[in-house]
Amino acid sequence: MRDSVRHEDFDTMTSTLLTHALVLTSESSRPRIDDGAVLVRGGVVEAVGTTAELRGMSAERTVDIDGHILLPGFVNTHTHLAGTITRGLVEDVTTGAYLERIWPIEAMGISNGWFAAGERLGIVEHLMAGITTANDMFFDPASALNNAVDLGFRLLAGTVHLDFPGPDNLSPSQRMDEAASLLARFGDHPLVRVTAAPHGGYTVGPEQLESVWNHAHDNGLLFHIHAAESSEEDAAIRDAYGRRPVEHLGAVGVLDARTILAHAVRLDDSDIELLAQTGTAVAHCPISNLKTASGVCRVGDMLDKSVRVGLGTDGGTASNDYDMFAVMRTAAILAKNATRSPERFTAEEMLRMATLGGAEALGVGHLIGSIEEGKQADLVVVDTSASHNVPMFDPFTTLVYQAGRTDVTLTMVQGEILMERRRLTRVDLDSVVNDAISAGREITVELSNGAEARVSPSQ
Ligand SMILES: [Zn+2]
Repeated sequence: MRDSVRHEDFDTMTSTLLTHALVLTSESSRPRIDDGAVLVRGGVVEAVGTTAELRGMSAERTVDIDGHILLPGFVNTHTHLAGTITRGLVEDVTTGAYLERIWPIEAMGISNGWFAAGERLGIVEHLMAGITTANDMFFDPASALNNAVDLGFRLLAGTVHLDFPGPDNLSPSQRMDEAASLLARFGDHPLVRVTAAPHGGYTVGPEQLESVWNHAHDNGLLFHIHAAESSEEDAAIRDAYGRRPVEHLGAVGVLDARTILAHAVRLDDSDIELLAQTGTAVAHCPISNLKTASGVCRVGDMLDKSVRVGLGTDGGTASNDYDMFAVMRTAAILAKNATRSPERFTAEEMLRMATLGGAEALGVGHLIGSIEEGKQADLVVVDTSASHNVPMFDPFTTLVYQAGRTDVTLTMVQGEILMERRRLTRVDLDSVVNDAISAGREITVELSNGAEARVSPSQ
């Protein structure tokens, strides 16, 4: 990868001691530690406690957090990183009109490097915003996984299955080959994870859904699929199968604890019951849902039934940016309004949903999502000194309702500091931005030359 430093030989015994922090752990037995400290060694949290409790422990580097907030990195449970490069291109139209405009661009984007530029731009935007993990869905997932490894970002991504050729022009059987090759290349990787990512119940028929499901089941993969999002999807599945979208996926037999549904907006009570019974998780993307006028996800009803729910931004083309502060705030306000109850949800509950809740929804809650001994050291520092963050009576409230992504001053993934004082450590931000600007200019030229639609949707 150009303009970046390779860290093939990451020193797994590197250690860092973070001291004098207001630690919000997302762990229920000790959610808040005043004047807290965290010792990180070999990419893992070795000790958590007060600064006094950890006195005497030594590390190669000590960082004084000076009373600011230290929390687990945010977990983005649904996105399309490559689509970062086409954000803002098509706005204020129906899904059908949107697809008509975006298809020709997606067809060209893989071969000429635009999407790789979008992946890198999306990843650095995540890191600058304190997001340390994302669950991606886009064509050529090997490219996204390679870029994630290169930039030190924790990414889950897998083959996007469709019944028809997509922008990458692959047949269903070629997609299964791609899925096998991803496993061979990244199956044992310590940072990134391979998933199965069939696009949706209206773009993938029952037969293929079943074979992808078997592949996911045989290899222990997350099964990531769009479901119950748009009225077009709802109508297509009702027409074809006489069922609601979630009911259909249940009937095909692809709902269980390894499944995460992106959006899950159009649900009735029996759908929520089905999610609860099967242990299916949901990626709640409130800003995307509001912007595309899809509706409101019934998060409260799901949590009442113990359905695992994480938060997501969705891709750049649907909701433009990757800002989990904005997503948390929107999710909280939306839930309060939808339930006519200001008690639902507390800021502490929202922060948990944006961190450990997301990790649990992705099936990696045992590895990431909270600051606990033995877990991966994916950590973020939020500076609380800006005018909009003071006075601070409750740090959870400050984070959810006042703080913003530019307040993030440190992002660590697997023990490695990837951003410190708003500067990336592995890659030159300007080079990533300039590559994206160049790709944007090329897209503009192609559009003015009258690019023709010839493929099918990806989002
Ligand atoms: Zn999506």
